[in-house]
Amino acid sequence: MKEKILIIGGGPGGLFTGALLAHEGCEVTVLEKNPVIGGGLQTFTRRGEVFETGMHILGGLRPGGSVYKICDYLGIMESLSLRNTDDDCFDSITYLSDRTTYRMPTGREAFTAYLTATFPHERAGIATYMDALYSLADEVDFFYLRRGKDYLFAHSDRFLWSADRLIAHYVTDHRLRDLLAYMNPMYGGVYGQTPAYIHALINVLYIEGACRFNGGSQQLADALASVITRAGGAVLGGKPVTRVEVENRAVSRVLTADGTAYRADRYISAVHPCILLNLTDGDAFTKAYRNRLNALPNAYSAFTVYIRFKPDTFPYINHTCYYQQEYGQVWGHAEYDAADWPRGFMYMTSPRRDQGNYAHTMIINCIMPFDCVRQWEHTTVGHRGGEYRAWKEAHIRKILDRMERLHPGFGRCIAERFASTPLTIRDYYGTKEGSLYGFSRDCRDIVRSQLSVATKVSNLLLTGQNINLHGICGVPLTAINTAEALLGENALIDKMNKQ
Ligand SMILES: Cc1cc2nc3c(=O)[nH]c(=O)nc-3n(C[C@H](O)[C@H](O)[C@H](O)COP(=O)(O)OP(=O)(O)OC[C@H]3O[C@@H](n4cnc5c(N)ncnc54)[C@H](O)[C@@H]3O)c2cc1C
Repeated sequence: MKEKILIIGGGPGGLFTGALLAHEGCEVTVLEKNPVIGGGLQTFTRRGEVFETGMHILGGLRPGGSVYKICDYLGIMESLSLRNTDDDCFDSITYLSDRTTYRMPTGREAFTAYLTATFPHERAGIATYMDALYSLADEVDFFYLRRGKDYLFAHSDRFLWSADRLIAHYVTDHRLRDLLAYMNPMYGGVYGQTPAYIHALINVLYIEGACRFNGGSQQLADALASVITRAGGAVLGGKPVTRVEVENRAVSRVLTADGTAYRADRYISAVHPCILLNLTDGDAFTKAYRNRLNALPNAYSAFTVYIRFKPDTFPYINHTCYYQQEYGQVWGHAEYDAADWPRGFMYMTSPRRDQGNYAHTMIINCIMPFDCVRQWEHTTVGHRGGEYRAWKEAHIRKILDRMERLHPGFGRCIAERFASTPLTIRDYYGTKEGSLYGFSRDCRDIVRSQLSVATKVSNLLLTGQNINLHGICGVPLTAINTAEALLGENALIDKMNKQ
């Protein structure tokens, strides 16, 4: 008999975990609340153009990368249409204050050489900083799909320094310190809190080679779902889980909004753990566990402007662009100040499968704390009122004003623009406070924000971005952790490495 697994949440966490287990012979059912599966991989179409809602910048998907190996193992790599960002510039960072644009090249050597040529007086510091970055990433065996027991402990001291301390330890030039932190919107960086190892993992991930989806991220969700369905399982959209019944510290069944009851041998929650707590009875988890999870801070949210261009007006840019108003503000993304918002954001033109020289769409992601929309937190999609719509429009204009300064004539290229807010992210993904990356990690008390895939409910495991690391690399790695909790330690890693 195949072991029956029921997974709550059809985002990348649920789908990667489900696909790995289905590939190993389990009968997997995934229940996703939205009609379209995918969570952070979900796309939507507007006037014929596809827009990504979450993951657009991918790391680890070039041959040899960890996510590549996982997808290859699942047999889906061939079905994905990816493109590499430009090797001579995978990210550009423009500071409007001095009109300087830095263009970061792919690969450790080229990246180091570029920084050294730009900041020659910091040559020694840059070399030791890059050594530190790579050796911190190397401490995490799992990041390279190596057998290893431990994820967090028994590491070097600087592993749990704050990311800003790590940078400041090696370089003194304030512009270079700022520049080295430019990726922090990709990991929810907070000054004095974000651990150096997270900064290292995300930086190394992208320095080693970034990719994009041609035609949108939904293709990865669909490919993972097909692994599950081909093995006899099911991935069901439009199935919000409304209750997880627990008896004698074991899940007995899961109920969806339409009243259907699902039973399985094992259950895996791939939703935000605080959402899971709300779905269970009060005595399913200890009060201490509930209090701890509910009190944990979450990474900040974002305001996103989506743009559809008039044909042949704005060039396709094959790298991610970061904008900063001034040096010294890169750690302040979570501090909202209406007077000079936005002080920084990232934008990218999304490639179609038949991408030519001109862009069809653009996504502009600007960090925004949930507090900005708290006054509308009790409203629902489509019913938030005129004041909210006016607030949204004002923020779109603020962003477009910066874009005009970055790309004069930008406004004339726009055929249509619209936006999503932290409330949109909260309501579509069901993440607490619209957090981009779930629980934020704090190096001052790392144990508090560290969750195990196992729970005190004997047949219930956790997966997804709130455990370990977020994003295109962190979520599939955690999926291995969760699947191996059922299949045996290193069972999957060994197979993937034998390929
Ligand atoms: C705007 C934005 C941009 C991002 N950009 C990038 C990027 O460029 N690169 C990158 O690597 N990462 C990026 N991320 C992060 C990445 O998307 C997440 O780390 C990833 O999606 C987390 O996967 P997950 O499965 O844990 O959670 P999610 O993707 O949030 O999936 C959870 C799923 O559970 C479902 N769900 C919730 N409640 C229920 C319920 N009661 N019943 C059934 N289903 C339920 C949700 O609908 C959702 O589909 C971005 C995130 C956001 C929000």
